[in-house]
Amino acid sequence: MINSTAEWVTAYIGLGSNLANPAEQIKFARIAIAQIIGVKELAFSDLYHSPPMGPQDQPDYVNAVMSITTDLPPLDLLRSLQRIENDQGRIRKDQRWVARTLDLDLLLYGEQLIELPDLSVPHPGIAERAFVLYPLYEIAPNLLIPGKANIADLLVHCPVNGLKKLAAER
Ligand code: AMP
Repeated sequence: MINSTAEWVTAYIGLGSNLANPAEQIKFARIAIAQIIGVKELAFSDLYHSPPMGPQDQPDYVNAVMSITTDLPPLDLLRSLQRIENDQGRIRKDQRWVARTLDLDLLLYGEQLIELPDLSVPHPGIAERAFVLYPLYEIAPNLLIPGKANIADLLVHCPVNGLKKLAAER
């Protein structure tokens, strides 16, 4: 239910997939996120192609970034995103950086700095990951990453690392 007294906050979500038709996974996830009660889409980046982090014996990723406005508290938003990951066949493993049908990261929630057992915002790694920073810059070129720096300054220090735009697959 939409909480009419809550403030609407701009948040950013990173989307990634490298299994089971990744571009389709991202498109389905975009629709599912926009359908969460208490969430409205503001902008969606182009799709990007990136080499995997960590183990290299897995397919390349398709990535994108979405901005939303939401009146959900951050942990409720995270749980809704995890539900969408599960609905799209995400199998959770203990190992990090393994192939997945869908990975949804809460990158930013307003200007808040959050350190909870299940949630760190800004998302750890936001400042170093090309597949996050470049699509984020595309939809929010003036963004200030709380506790870090202006996105344009972060980009200058972030190598492209094989990231390529998939303009035709948007
Ligand atoms: P991952 O394997 O990248 O999907 O990581 C999932 C785990 O990271 C979950 O246990 C989340 O609770 C935790 N987590 C911490 N901060 C975040 C965040 N900002 N966005 C998404 N997951 C997060």
